[in-house]
Amino acid sequence: MEKLAIEGGCPVRIDKIFYGRQWIDENDINAVEEVLRSDFITCGPKVDELERALCQYTGAKYAVVVNSGTSALHCACIAAGIKQGDEVITTPLTFAASANCVIYCGGRPVFADVDSSTYNIDPDSIRDCITKNTKAIIAVDYTGQAVEIDEIRKICIDNNLVFIEDAAHSIGTKYKGENVGNLADMTCFSFHPVKTITGGEGGAILTNDENLYRKLMLARTHGITHDESMMEDDMHEGSWCYEQISLGYNYRLTDFQAALITSQLRKLDIFAKRRKEIAQRYNEAFSDMPEIIIQKEISESDTCRHLYIIQLKLELLKCTRREFFDAMSAENVQCQVHYIPIYWFPYYRHMGYKKGICPKAEDIYERIMSIPLYPKMTDQDVEDVIRAVKKVVDNYRIAEQ
Ligand SMILES: *Cc1c(COP(=O)(O)O)cnc(C)c1O
Repeated sequence: MEKLAIEGGCPVRIDKIFYGRQWIDENDINAVEEVLRSDFITCGPKVDELERALCQYTGAKYAVVVNSGTSALHCACIAAGIKQGDEVITTPLTFAASANCVIYCGGRPVFADVDSSTYNIDPDSIRDCITKNTKAIIAVDYTGQAVEIDEIRKICIDNNLVFIEDAAHSIGTKYKGENVGNLADMTCFSFHPVKTITGGEGGAILTNDENLYRKLMLARTHGITHDESMMEDDMHEGSWCYEQISLGYNYRLTDFQAALITSQLRKLDIFAKRRKEIAQRYNEAFSDMPEIIIQKEISESDTCRHLYIIQLKLELLKCTRREFFDAMSAENVQCQVHYIPIYWFPYYRHMGYKKGICPKAEDIYERIMSIPLYPKMTDQDVEDVIRAVKKVVDNYRIAEQ
């Protein structure tokens, strides 16, 4: 049965607002249409154009675009040389793809705990997880806020690890004035529709390392090269020649998706500005509410916020997180929870991961929800969300003694 809104069943708004959604305009549609009418709908000029635009935006030397953020992470793990027996440290408070990519390569994800105020992976916990088998760190810029880049980079240098940044949330974010994309050994973006810019699906890996770049290019297309200098055999009989020199996949992005992402990238700064404005308004609205804890922001990160998380101080509320979530839904504000700790899933449990390995992440998971945040929200939408949060808190507040 549909839960009724608080106070006589009159919700804060008539239509439902969702936690995230894309913003496609006529320019985007025209960009896609132009490609569909052209000669190349894949492996064409729009892929190169997007790669140049991503390099220009981030400042990174090389970009490899692929068909999803998950493929980007898989390619990064391949390029990092992850194989059977290797360990890769990541956070449990992320989408499953951040850890699955390690398993694709035969490696084992090791979960480090998060900082209980920023919710990002905690460098001290990373240090505790390092063994002789550790080969890489996949750090996730959770909600768009950059991780402690300098400290993680130092850990990587000291321990000879590859630093992979899962920046699915953080395109448009800067750390100490430098763009995400130009900070780690490899940075992975996602262009899924809930992310900041979209191609329907899509992803990219950014790097400054030519050697990694070559491996990423091979991983994207079957391990095939057309570059004679990379070929082993002397079989240059004609211009049709190519060689498969490693095992790769078909992770290519179509040209119409590339055109859409390029068109979206032109609006990234506008999107980022609006996302920051909305996050700022939420911060103001919730900062004086003892029942709501807001995410701590570190001064080094100039954050293009992908998700806005509220953490419930359940001690002050006579409801569960689920009741709060359902009450928000009854107010027509459809929240989401990011994320169930990865190792809680049956697939991971069956591999031997146990509950309790990252107590801070687990505790945070049980208290958080993501409220709507996307650039197309109107000021009225934002105020409606705030009104719904306040109404639900008022309803469930434990009366003062
Ligand atoms: C969305 C997401 C991914 C996966 O990206 P897809 O493009 O959906 O494959 C990976 N990591 C994080 C943190 C994400 O949010």
